[in-house]
Amino acid sequence: MERTKAAIAKTLALQWFSTTAQVAKVQVGGIMALIVQKYGGTSVGSVERIQAVAQRVIKTVRAGNSLVVVVSAMGKTTDGLVKLAHEISATPNRREMDMLLSTGEQVSIALLSMALQEMGQPAISMTGAQVGIVTEAEHTRARILSIETERMQRHLREGRVVVVAGFQGVASHADLEITTLGRGGSDTSAVALAAALKASACEIYTDVPGILTTDPRLVPDAQLMAEITSDEMLELASLGAKVLHPRAVEIARNYGVTLVVRSSWSDDPGTKVVSPIPQPRPLQGLEIAHPVDAIEFDTDQAKVAMLRVPDRPGIAARLFGEIARQSLDVDLIIQSIHEGNTNDIAFTVRKNSLNRAEAVAAAIAPALRNDADPTSGEAEVMVERHIAKVSIAGAGMIGRPGVAAQMFSTLAAAGINIQMISTSEVKISCAVAAEDCDRAIAALCDVFQVNSSPASGHHAEAATSDLPPVRGAALDLRQAQLAIRHVPDRPGMAAKIFTLLADCNISVDMIIQSQRCRLVDGVATRDIAFTVAQQDAEEARTLLQKAADEWGHGEVTVDPAIAKVSIVGTGMVGRPGIAARMFEAIAQQQINIQMIATSEIKISCVVPEAEGVRALQVIHAAFDLSGNEAIVVPA
Ligand code: ASP
Ligand code: MG
Repeated sequence: MERTKAAIAKTLALQWFSTTAQVAKVQVGGIMALIVQKYGGTSVGSVERIQAVAQRVIKTVRAGNSLVVVVSAMGKTTDGLVKLAHEISATPNRREMDMLLSTGEQVSIALLSMALQEMGQPAISMTGAQVGIVTEAEHTRARILSIETERMQRHLREGRVVVVAGFQGVASHADLEITTLGRGGSDTSAVALAAALKASACEIYTDVPGILTTDPRLVPDAQLMAEITSDEMLELASLGAKVLHPRAVEIARNYGVTLVVRSSWSDDPGTKVVSPIPQPRPLQGLEIAHPVDAIEFDTDQAKVAMLRVPDRPGIAARLFGEIARQSLDVDLIIQSIHEGNTNDIAFTVRKNSLNRAEAVAAAIAPALRNDADPTSGEAEVMVERHIAKVSIAGAGMIGRPGVAAQMFSTLAAAGINIQMISTSEVKISCAVAAEDCDRAIAALCDVFQVNSSPASGHHAEAATSDLPPVRGAALDLRQAQLAIRHVPDRPGMAAKIFTLLADCNISVDMIIQSQRCRLVDGVATRDIAFTVAQQDAEEARTLLQKAADEWGHGEVTVDPAIAKVSIVGTGMVGRPGIAARMFEAIAQQQINIQMIATSEIKISCVVPEAEGVRALQVIHAAFDLSGNEAIVVPA
């Protein structure tokens, strides 16, 4: 077994090096920088715009660069094709859907090549299949496995601009099945091409000036960012900053592609998405190999839980406001869904802050009587001194619910109970008993084939604190909240639940276990709540309700009328008071927070759907994200 693994690794490494060698040859051959440019649908929406794109391409060539250009379908072509399909079938065959949708890009590559040729620039258009963009055989949501570069390089050497159809690939050389990458996928095509060609940059041209601090249609004084890290971008991208396909950012991060997002209509520099220097990885299995590239742990953690705090606006603001005034740095925070009319709030702090954090919680508990229900008594404070946080980290987890499920199953198989779960786009962390930490790390390293396991945690990364703590804010109105009541409190339940959902390709977002235990027929139980895309909510509910008898949990409820507001920023690491400021801004509007979940670089709150936009606006203002330059975005 080990031998086979080593042999595969060796082959992959060889393939990787041979690609490097080819590129080196090209560069020795006198060609200067190789750039991949991608133009979105609006940028090629008309003949005039295609001509404007051609001019920009030629300008870049004249500056001494070789160019691969990726284009989307013209304007709203893809939407139109989807509509046509649905006029014929409510559930169109996915293979035929790919056949249909891939035509949009074929139109724009041909027209752009003609425009270039007309202006005297040699150019050639190529479909995904002609290039050799090989994908999984998953129609309508294929991931890229590998990209052949020889044909493109030959044309480049011969002085042509290569115009490649975005969004599409081919399932294998044998049957030449056309696949598409999922809506918005041409960003992903472009960055994958840049990675495969070892291009010096990938430029995404779009109809907005770059990445903004939030959605300017909801917050008019949103501001352009000159730079953002790929981790921050990943946390924002799937939250609604729709400028960049999250999978494109994953590839950029994993392969260290220099990525720039800028306007097609101006020469402004746009936003640079910066990635850390990547660990070397093979180009085979481009989008699927190694979704997890590090296992991290932090044993310097302790947990404070407050049970039965009243469910009304301002409680979290008050608790974390006081914690911040004491300069205590909080890492994870979770607030569970309400039971009756009370919540549980739990958070972790460094061990040496535990006594002070506990004192703060104990001091305000008596004031948190639940007026609506005098029998409920006062909030109760519980501490847990010996916990560890174990995390899997990597770019490649978005849209792959199986990765989280695999983490939970691995911990379950090792007999480890999960006390808290924190999920984000680039990291999933579980709080476990301190004595389980080593076993958890060993099991996770084995399953995800990672051998390094750097100690991590909020304090280890505190060097970033000269950055503004919060870079952007996002609103997601397309999530629904599910709650599973009375889940037996034993190892393996989270694994079962999230494996079941993952098998049906349902991605979960915030996951929260209530802190209080309730005895149901002599069994200790907790509630588990999480959010999923609204379109998956009913299916998830049905699946889980069906499992209730066998697994012993209670009712499964859905609340679709929620909004999730989030703040993101690498600079919040190791800086107390950020969460408090967010909760305070929300509380001042008398908006009730239904759930809270955090990761190291993101804090998310679930609020009632009707309050979502207002919550986003006040948070954006609270962190001084506003600019004075009005950003114009097309409708
Ligand atoms: N044309 C495809 C879509 O609209 C791909 C893209 O534009 O990125 O989804
Ligand atoms: Mg797009």
